[in-house]
Amino acid sequence: SQTKAEPMRVLVTGGSGLVGKAIEHVVKQEGGCLEGEQWTFLSSKEANLVDLQQTRAVFEKYRPTHVIHLAAKVGGLYLHMKENLHFLRDNLRINDNVLQTSHERGVTKVVSCLSSCIFPDKTTYPIDESMIHNGPPHDSNFGYSHAKRMIDIQNRGYFAQHGRRYTAVIPTNVYGPYDNFNFENGHVLSALMHKTYAAKKEGAPLQVWGSGTPRRQFIYSLDVARLFLWVLREYDEIDPIILSVGEEEELPIKDAVEMIADALDFKGQIVFDTSKSDGQMKKTASNAKLRRYLPDFTFTPLSEGIKKTCDWFVNNYDIART
Ligand code: NDP
Repeated sequence: SQTKAEPMRVLVTGGSGLVGKAIEHVVKQEGGCLEGEQWTFLSSKEANLVDLQQTRAVFEKYRPTHVIHLAAKVGGLYLHMKENLHFLRDNLRINDNVLQTSHERGVTKVVSCLSSCIFPDKTTYPIDESMIHNGPPHDSNFGYSHAKRMIDIQNRGYFAQHGRRYTAVIPTNVYGPYDNFNFENGHVLSALMHKTYAAKKEGAPLQVWGSGTPRRQFIYSLDVARLFLWVLREYDEIDPIILSVGEEEELPIKDAVEMIADALDFKGQIVFDTSKSDGQMKKTASNAKLRRYLPDFTFTPLSEGIKKTCDWFVNNYDIART
Protein backbone atom coordinates (compact mmCIF):
# COMPACT_ATOMS: atom_id res chain seq x y z
CA SER A 1 0.00 0.00 0.00
CA GLN A 2 3.03 2.27 0.49
CA THR A 3 3.64 2.46 -3.26
CA LYS A 4 0.17 3.82 -4.05
CA ALA A 5 0.07 7.23 -5.67
CA GLU A 6 -2.29 8.68 -3.08
CA PRO A 7 -0.72 9.14 0.38
CA MET A 8 -2.57 7.34 3.17
CA ARG A 9 -5.16 9.08 5.30
CA VAL A 10 -5.15 7.01 8.47
CA LEU A 11 -7.92 7.12 11.04
CA VAL A 12 -6.98 5.63 14.43
CA THR A 13 -10.01 4.73 16.55
CA GLY A 14 -9.25 4.58 20.28
CA GLY A 15 -6.44 7.04 19.60
CA SER A 16 -6.53 8.43 23.14
CA GLY A 17 -5.73 5.12 24.90
CA LEU A 18 -2.54 3.28 25.83
CA VAL A 19 -1.87 1.84 22.38
CA GLY A 20 -3.28 4.85 20.51
CA LYS A 21 -0.99 7.29 22.33
CA ALA A 22 2.00 5.07 21.59
CA ILE A 23 1.14 5.00 17.87
CA GLU A 24 0.74 8.78 17.94
CA HIS A 25 4.22 9.07 19.48
CA VAL A 26 5.81 6.81 16.84
CA VAL A 27 4.01 8.67 14.03
CA LYS A 28 4.81 12.18 15.27
CA GLN A 29 8.15 11.77 17.10
CA GLU A 30 9.86 8.81 15.43
CA GLY A 31 9.27 9.66 11.77
CA GLY A 32 6.53 7.05 11.41
CA CYS A 33 4.52 9.42 9.21
CA LEU A 34 5.55 9.54 5.55
CA GLU A 35 5.39 12.62 3.31
CA GLY A 36 1.83 13.73 2.60
CA GLU A 37 0.15 11.31 4.98
CA GLN A 38 -2.65 12.47 7.24
CA TRP A 39 -3.09 10.79 10.63
CA THR A 40 -6.12 11.36 12.87
CA PHE A 41 -6.36 10.05 16.44
CA LEU A 42 -9.93 9.72 17.68
CA SER A 43 -11.29 9.56 21.19
CA SER A 44 -14.82 8.67 22.26
CA LYS A 45 -15.41 12.37 22.79
CA GLU A 46 -15.28 13.01 19.05
CA ALA A 47 -17.44 10.01 18.13
CA ASN A 48 -19.15 7.33 20.17
CA LEU A 49 -18.56 4.38 17.85
CA VAL A 50 -21.36 2.36 19.45
CA ASP A 51 -23.57 4.72 17.45
CA LEU A 52 -23.73 4.12 13.68
CA GLN A 53 -24.63 7.72 12.77
CA GLN A 54 -21.68 9.11 14.73
CA THR A 55 -19.41 6.50 13.16
CA ARG A 56 -20.56 7.45 9.65
CA ALA A 57 -20.17 11.16 10.42
CA VAL A 58 -16.59 10.82 11.59
CA PHE A 59 -15.66 8.73 8.51
CA GLU A 60 -17.34 11.36 6.32
CA LYS A 61 -15.29 14.07 8.03
CA TYR A 62 -11.86 12.44 7.71
CA ARG A 63 -12.35 10.21 4.62
CA PRO A 64 -9.72 7.66 5.67
CA THR A 65 -8.03 5.32 3.21
CA HIS A 66 -6.69 3.20 6.11
CA VAL A 67 -8.01 2.52 9.60
CA ILE A 68 -6.28 1.32 12.76
CA HIS A 69 -9.13 0.12 14.94
CA LEU A 70 -8.27 0.17 18.65
CA ALA A 71 -11.48 1.46 20.21
CA ALA A 72 -13.02 -1.03 22.59
CA LYS A 73 -14.97 -1.11 25.79
CA VAL A 74 -12.37 -2.56 28.15
CA GLY A 75 -12.35 -2.97 31.91
CA GLY A 76 -10.93 -4.84 34.86
CA LEU A 77 -11.83 -8.40 35.80
CA TYR A 78 -14.59 -7.40 38.22
CA LEU A 79 -16.41 -5.12 35.80
CA HIS A 80 -16.22 -7.76 33.07
CA MET A 81 -17.78 -10.38 35.36
CA LYS A 82 -20.58 -8.03 36.31
CA GLU A 83 -21.34 -6.77 32.81
CA ASN A 84 -20.47 -9.47 30.28
CA LEU A 85 -23.56 -8.74 28.19
CA HIS A 86 -22.76 -5.04 28.09
CA PHE A 87 -19.18 -5.72 26.97
CA LEU A 88 -20.46 -8.10 24.32
CA ARG A 89 -23.06 -5.75 22.87
CA ASP A 90 -21.00 -2.55 22.91
CA ASN A 91 -17.98 -4.21 21.33
CA LEU A 92 -20.04 -6.06 18.71
CA ARG A 93 -21.58 -2.73 17.72
CA ILE A 94 -18.32 -0.76 17.75
CA ASN A 95 -16.63 -3.38 15.59
CA ASP A 96 -19.53 -3.78 13.17
CA ASN A 97 -19.91 -0.01 12.81
CA VAL A 98 -16.20 0.53 12.15
CA LEU A 99 -15.72 -2.41 9.76
CA GLN A 100 -18.92 -1.93 7.76
CA THR A 101 -18.46 1.85 7.50
CA SER A 102 -14.86 1.26 6.40
CA HIS A 103 -16.12 -1.09 3.70
CA GLU A 104 -18.87 1.28 2.54
CA ARG A 105 -16.42 4.15 2.26
CA GLY A 106 -13.82 2.13 0.36
CA VAL A 107 -11.18 1.96 3.10
CA THR A 108 -8.52 -0.33 1.60
CA LYS A 109 -7.05 -1.66 4.83
CA VAL A 110 -8.19 -1.99 8.43
CA VAL A 111 -5.95 -3.32 11.19
CA SER A 112 -8.00 -4.20 14.27
CA CYS A 113 -6.80 -5.25 17.69
CA LEU A 114 -7.64 -8.60 19.26
CA SER A 115 -6.19 -9.71 22.58
CA SER A 116 -4.40 -12.77 23.89
CA CYS A 117 -7.03 -13.10 26.63
CA ILE A 118 -9.63 -14.21 24.05
CA PHE A 119 -7.92 -17.54 23.40
CA PRO A 120 -9.53 -20.79 24.62
CA ASP A 121 -9.37 -21.22 28.38
CA LYS A 122 -8.39 -24.88 28.10
CA THR A 123 -5.51 -25.03 25.67
CA THR A 124 -2.09 -26.39 24.87
CA TYR A 125 0.97 -24.11 24.94
CA PRO A 126 2.33 -22.18 23.26
CA ILE A 127 -0.78 -20.50 21.92
CA ASP A 128 -0.63 -19.52 18.26
CA GLU A 129 -2.77 -17.68 15.71
CA SER A 130 -4.54 -20.84 14.50
CA MET A 131 -6.14 -21.50 17.92
CA ILE A 132 -8.44 -18.48 18.43
CA HIS A 133 -11.69 -20.36 17.87
CA ASN A 134 -10.68 -23.74 19.32
CA GLY A 135 -12.79 -23.64 22.49
CA PRO A 136 -14.63 -21.32 24.86
CA PRO A 137 -12.70 -18.37 26.32
CA HIS A 138 -12.38 -17.89 30.07
CA ASP A 139 -15.80 -17.39 31.71
CA SER A 140 -14.88 -14.13 33.42
CA ASN A 141 -14.81 -12.10 30.19
CA PHE A 142 -16.79 -14.19 27.71
CA GLY A 143 -18.62 -11.12 26.39
CA TYR A 144 -15.52 -9.14 25.46
CA SER A 145 -13.79 -12.26 24.13
CA HIS A 146 -16.57 -13.37 21.83
CA ALA A 147 -16.94 -9.86 20.39
CA LYS A 148 -13.19 -9.78 19.71
CA ARG A 149 -13.24 -13.23 18.13
CA MET A 150 -15.97 -12.04 15.75
CA ILE A 151 -13.58 -9.43 14.34
CA ASP A 152 -11.54 -12.30 12.91
CA ILE A 153 -14.71 -13.80 11.39
CA GLN A 154 -15.75 -10.42 10.00
CA ASN A 155 -12.30 -9.95 8.42
CA ARG A 156 -12.65 -13.31 6.71
CA GLY A 157 -16.09 -12.30 5.47
CA TYR A 158 -15.02 -8.91 4.11
CA PHE A 159 -12.25 -10.63 2.18
CA ALA A 160 -14.33 -13.56 0.93
CA GLN A 161 -17.26 -11.43 -0.16
CA HIS A 162 -15.66 -8.08 -1.04
CA GLY A 163 -11.92 -8.74 -1.42
CA ARG A 164 -11.14 -6.33 1.43
CA ARG A 165 -7.79 -6.72 3.18
CA TYR A 166 -8.96 -6.24 6.73
CA THR A 167 -6.78 -7.95 9.32
CA ALA A 168 -5.97 -7.94 13.05
CA VAL A 169 -3.10 -8.12 15.50
CA ILE A 170 -3.05 -9.95 18.84
CA PRO A 171 -0.85 -8.22 21.42
CA THR A 172 -0.01 -9.93 24.73
CA ASN A 173 0.07 -7.79 27.92
CA VAL A 174 0.74 -4.20 26.85
CA TYR A 175 2.15 -1.63 29.27
CA GLY A 176 3.49 1.91 28.90
CA PRO A 177 2.69 5.61 29.36
CA TYR A 178 -1.02 6.54 29.27
CA ASP A 179 -2.06 3.14 30.63
CA ASN A 180 -4.82 2.89 33.21
CA PHE A 181 -3.00 2.94 36.58
CA ASN A 182 -6.12 2.31 38.69
CA PHE A 183 -5.50 -0.18 41.54
CA GLU A 184 -8.49 -2.34 40.65
CA ASN A 185 -9.23 -1.72 36.98
CA GLY A 186 -5.70 -1.15 35.71
CA HIS A 187 -3.51 -3.73 34.01
CA VAL A 188 -1.20 -5.68 36.30
CA LEU A 189 2.04 -3.70 35.75
CA SER A 190 0.51 -0.23 35.78
CA ALA A 191 -1.57 -1.01 38.88
CA LEU A 192 1.58 -2.30 40.58
CA MET A 193 3.49 0.84 39.62
CA HIS A 194 0.79 2.97 41.19
CA LYS A 195 0.72 0.76 44.32
CA THR A 196 4.49 0.93 44.66
CA TYR A 197 4.45 4.71 44.23
CA ALA A 198 1.77 5.00 46.94
CA ALA A 199 3.55 2.56 49.32
CA LYS A 200 6.77 4.54 49.01
CA LYS A 201 4.97 7.81 49.72
CA GLU A 202 3.27 6.35 52.80
CA GLY A 203 6.32 4.38 54.00
CA ALA A 204 4.10 1.29 53.93
CA PRO A 205 4.81 -2.26 52.67
CA LEU A 206 3.93 -3.02 49.04
CA GLN A 207 0.97 -5.40 48.94
CA VAL A 208 1.00 -7.52 45.77
CA TRP A 209 -2.18 -9.48 45.00
CA GLY A 210 -1.46 -13.17 44.45
CA SER A 211 1.71 -15.23 44.83
CA GLY A 212 3.73 -13.45 42.12
CA THR A 213 4.45 -16.80 40.44
CA PRO A 214 2.11 -16.61 37.40
CA ARG A 215 4.14 -15.92 34.28
CA ARG A 216 3.31 -13.35 31.62
CA GLN A 217 4.72 -11.91 28.40
CA PHE A 218 4.81 -8.12 28.57
CA ILE A 219 5.23 -5.87 25.55
CA TYR A 220 6.06 -2.17 25.71
CA SER A 221 3.41 0.02 24.07
CA LEU A 222 5.98 1.72 21.82
CA ASP A 223 7.04 -1.69 20.47
CA VAL A 224 3.38 -2.51 19.78
CA ALA A 225 3.09 0.83 17.98
CA ARG A 226 6.15 0.21 15.77
CA LEU A 227 4.81 -3.24 14.89
CA PHE A 228 1.36 -1.77 14.13
CA LEU A 229 2.93 0.51 11.52
CA TRP A 230 4.69 -2.45 9.96
CA VAL A 231 1.40 -4.40 9.84
CA LEU A 232 -0.38 -1.42 8.29
CA ARG A 233 2.25 -0.93 5.58
CA GLU A 234 3.63 -4.41 4.92
CA TYR A 235 1.63 -7.30 6.36
CA ASP A 236 -0.65 -8.67 3.67
CA GLU A 237 -2.50 -11.54 5.34
CA ILE A 238 -6.11 -11.52 6.51
CA ASP A 239 -5.24 -13.97 9.29
CA PRO A 240 -4.15 -12.24 12.49
CA ILE A 241 -0.63 -12.06 13.87
CA ILE A 242 0.49 -12.28 17.49
CA LEU A 243 2.62 -9.31 18.65
CA SER A 244 4.68 -10.62 21.53
CA VAL A 245 8.13 -11.12 22.95
CA GLY A 246 9.39 -14.71 22.75
CA GLU A 247 8.17 -17.63 24.84
CA GLU A 248 11.45 -17.61 26.75
CA GLU A 249 10.71 -14.06 27.91
CA GLU A 250 7.53 -15.03 29.75
CA LEU A 251 8.46 -14.24 33.35
CA PRO A 252 6.98 -14.43 36.84
CA ILE A 253 5.09 -11.33 37.95
CA LYS A 254 7.37 -11.14 41.00
CA ASP A 255 10.37 -10.45 38.71
CA ALA A 256 8.47 -7.53 37.24
CA VAL A 257 7.61 -6.34 40.77
CA GLU A 258 11.31 -6.19 41.56
CA MET A 259 11.97 -4.15 38.42
CA ILE A 260 9.20 -1.74 39.44
CA ALA A 261 10.61 -1.42 42.96
CA ASP A 262 14.04 -0.65 41.44
CA ALA A 263 12.63 1.86 38.99
CA LEU A 264 10.75 3.74 41.72
CA ASP A 265 13.55 3.29 44.27
CA PHE A 266 11.18 1.52 46.66
CA LYS A 267 13.18 0.03 49.54
CA GLY A 268 10.29 -1.17 51.73
CA GLN A 269 8.91 -4.63 52.30
CA ILE A 270 7.13 -6.51 49.49
CA VAL A 271 4.25 -8.74 50.63
CA PHE A 272 2.57 -11.28 48.37
CA ASP A 273 -1.07 -11.69 49.43
CA THR A 274 -1.70 -15.34 48.53
CA SER A 275 -5.34 -15.11 49.66
CA LYS A 276 -5.97 -13.22 46.39
CA SER A 277 -6.46 -15.17 43.17
CA ASP A 278 -3.52 -15.73 40.85
CA GLY A 279 -5.42 -16.05 37.57
CA GLN A 280 -3.96 -18.35 34.94
CA MET A 281 -0.46 -19.59 35.83
CA LYS A 282 0.78 -18.94 32.31
CA LYS A 283 -0.54 -17.86 28.96
CA THR A 284 2.51 -18.52 26.77
CA ALA A 285 1.97 -17.20 23.26
CA SER A 286 4.20 -18.01 20.30
CA ASN A 287 5.75 -15.18 18.31
CA ALA A 288 7.10 -17.58 15.66
CA LYS A 289 4.94 -16.03 12.92
CA LEU A 290 6.14 -12.52 13.76
CA ARG A 291 9.73 -13.79 13.84
CA ARG A 292 9.35 -15.32 10.38
CA TYR A 293 8.50 -11.85 9.04
CA LEU A 294 10.76 -9.76 11.29
CA PRO A 295 13.66 -11.87 12.57
CA ASP A 296 15.61 -8.80 13.64
CA PHE A 297 12.98 -6.73 15.45
CA THR A 298 14.40 -5.65 18.82
CA PHE A 299 11.98 -5.52 21.75
CA THR A 300 12.52 -2.97 24.50
CA PRO A 301 13.92 -4.89 27.50
CA LEU A 302 11.30 -5.12 30.25
CA SER A 303 13.43 -3.33 32.85
CA GLU A 304 13.94 -0.41 30.45
CA GLY A 305 10.26 -0.19 29.51
CA ILE A 306 9.27 -0.36 33.17
CA LYS A 307 11.72 2.40 34.04
CA LYS A 308 10.35 4.63 31.25
CA THR A 309 6.75 3.95 32.27
CA CYS A 310 7.45 4.63 35.96
CA ASP A 311 9.20 7.90 35.07
CA TRP A 312 6.24 8.89 32.93
CA PHE A 313 3.81 8.04 35.73
CA VAL A 314 5.70 10.04 38.34
CA ASN A 315 6.05 13.04 36.02
CA ASN A 316 2.45 12.90 34.80
CA TYR A 317 0.67 11.87 37.98
CA ASP A 318 -1.86 14.69 37.54
CA ILE A 319 -3.05 13.56 34.11
CA ALA A 320 -2.55 9.80 34.50
CA ARG A 321 -5.65 7.61 34.65
CA THR A 322 -5.68 6.54 38.27
P1 NDP B 1 -7.47 1.97 26.47
O1 NDP B 1 -8.49 1.62 27.48
O2 NDP B 1 -6.23 2.63 26.92
O3 NDP B 1 -8.16 2.83 25.32
C1 NDP B 1 -9.41 2.49 24.82
C2 NDP B 1 -9.72 3.46 23.71
O4 NDP B 1 -11.00 3.14 23.14
C3 NDP B 1 -9.78 4.91 24.17
O5 NDP B 1 -9.22 5.73 23.18
C4 NDP B 1 -11.29 5.15 24.29
O6 NDP B 1 -11.65 6.50 24.11
C5 NDP B 1 -11.79 4.32 23.12
N1 NDP B 1 -13.19 3.97 23.26
C6 NDP B 1 -13.79 3.23 24.23
N2 NDP B 1 -15.12 3.17 24.03
C7 NDP B 1 -15.37 3.89 22.90
C8 NDP B 1 -16.56 4.22 22.18
N3 NDP B 1 -17.77 3.79 22.58
N4 NDP B 1 -16.44 5.00 21.08
C9 NDP B 1 -15.24 5.45 20.68
N5 NDP B 1 -14.09 5.17 21.30
C10 NDP B 1 -14.16 4.40 22.41
O7 NDP B 1 -7.15 0.63 25.68
P2 NDP B 1 -5.76 0.09 25.11
O8 NDP B 1 -5.03 1.15 24.38
O9 NDP B 1 -5.11 -0.69 26.18
O10 NDP B 1 -6.32 -0.96 24.06
C11 NDP B 1 -6.45 -0.68 22.67
C12 NDP B 1 -6.90 -1.94 21.99
O11 NDP B 1 -5.95 -2.96 22.24
C13 NDP B 1 -8.24 -2.46 22.49
O12 NDP B 1 -8.96 -2.94 21.37
C14 NDP B 1 -7.86 -3.57 23.43
O13 NDP B 1 -8.87 -4.52 23.50
C15 NDP B 1 -6.61 -4.09 22.78
N6 NDP B 1 -5.66 -4.79 23.64
C16 NDP B 1 -5.08 -4.21 24.73
C17 NDP B 1 -4.15 -4.92 25.50
C18 NDP B 1 -3.50 -4.32 26.68
O14 NDP B 1 -2.76 -5.04 27.38
N7 NDP B 1 -3.68 -3.05 26.96
C19 NDP B 1 -3.78 -6.28 25.18
C20 NDP B 1 -4.41 -6.78 24.02
C21 NDP B 1 -5.30 -6.05 23.30
P3 NDP B 1 -11.71 7.52 25.41
O15 NDP B 1 -10.28 7.81 25.77
O16 NDP B 1 -12.41 8.72 24.93
O17 NDP B 1 -12.42 6.78 26.48
